[in-house]
Amino acid sequence: MTALKAGATIGILGGGQLGRMLGSAAAALGFDISIYCPEEDCPAARVAAQHTIGAYTDTDALIAWAKTCDAITYEFENVPVEAAQALISAGALVRPGAKPLEVSQDRIVEKTFLRDCGIQTADFAQIDTAADVAGPIEQFGGEGILKTRRDGYDGKGQARLELGDDYEAAHKALKHAPCILEAMVPFEFEVSVIVARDRAGESICFDIPRNEHVNGILKRSVVPSDLSADVAERAGDAAKALADALDYVGVLALEFFVLSDGTLLANEFAPRVHNSGHWTPEACATGQFEQHMRAVAGWPLGPVTRYHDVEMLNLLGEEALVPPEVLAADGILTLYGKRDAKPGRKMGHLVRRRS
Ligand code: AMP
Repeated sequence: MTALKAGATIGILGGGQLGRMLGSAAAALGFDISIYCPEEDCPAARVAAQHTIGAYTDTDALIAWAKTCDAITYEFENVPVEAAQALISAGALVRPGAKPLEVSQDRIVEKTFLRDCGIQTADFAQIDTAADVAGPIEQFGGEGILKTRRDGYDGKGQARLELGDDYEAAHKALKHAPCILEAMVPFEFEVSVIVARDRAGESICFDIPRNEHVNGILKRSVVPSDLSADVAERAGDAAKALADALDYVGVLALEFFVLSDGTLLANEFAPRVHNSGHWTPEACATGQFEQHMRAVAGWPLGPVTRYHDVEMLNLLGEEALVPPEVLAADGILTLYGKRDAKPGRKMGHLVRRRS
């Protein structure tokens, strides 16, 4: 396929804030955006040229929508794999494809894939019933995190366990879903690599942010991360190896735990733009949203030169109820246009220059 021309339509599966920011960046490049999602009122549709309301399981509706798009991407990792496959089979150009969804949707498949790429992870075990916990938790030094294999995000669907805890109660709280038990990682801090890969297989990483979570939700990303050059290079190489193995086109984020001796253990990856990259549009020559859309359109990737040190603060729940003019005095403000500020819900973010 030749590169998309300005004026072409890029479809996005998903209507959340990432779709909204991708859509705005694509519009700035001259594209029209068409959102497909089940919600009538969503953050992305309000900045898009077109909005189709439909279920991700409605293959006919998806294919009809795809016929109105020149390329399709997605803004969340839980798009059903079958939906992406149906679109591809119908001849749609879907970037980054179905494989990244398949791999990232199941924590065991994901960690196995990462290891096959030569990327270290925490030790883990498959948990189908509570009885499966006892052996591995002992092996992991008496502590672990039980997580649902699928559908967990922002620390949801997880329970910290210690040797001798009531494993059945913990598994019941996760609705007896198929789970993974991960060894508890004594990390010093967390970072993520945001990498873009173009259709020719060229990759480029943004500077690496250091990420601070509260209750499993990202609260703050700071750049630079203070990783040594050698560790940062290893992290970048790992993200590029992952992108290559997935034959990825677009932006993906690979999250790492950093141990005190510089060991990197991958936690998970997101086959999409990432919250920990929300500072890039303000601080870099090309932001992650534009970068993703360049890749999807078959355009060359942009330079990722960072102009200054920076921090990004998420506005969670009621933090976003402070009047916007007050928030805007405190940094560069982005609000996602969500109607209700439930506790912990990502409502917007602030980007602040640090030097
Ligand atoms: P996740 O949903 O896997 O991204 O986990 C959310 C957060 O929980 C991570 O960013 C870490 O702060 C913490 N966490 C997750 N898994 C582990 C682990 N195996 N060891 C220690 N902390 C973890």
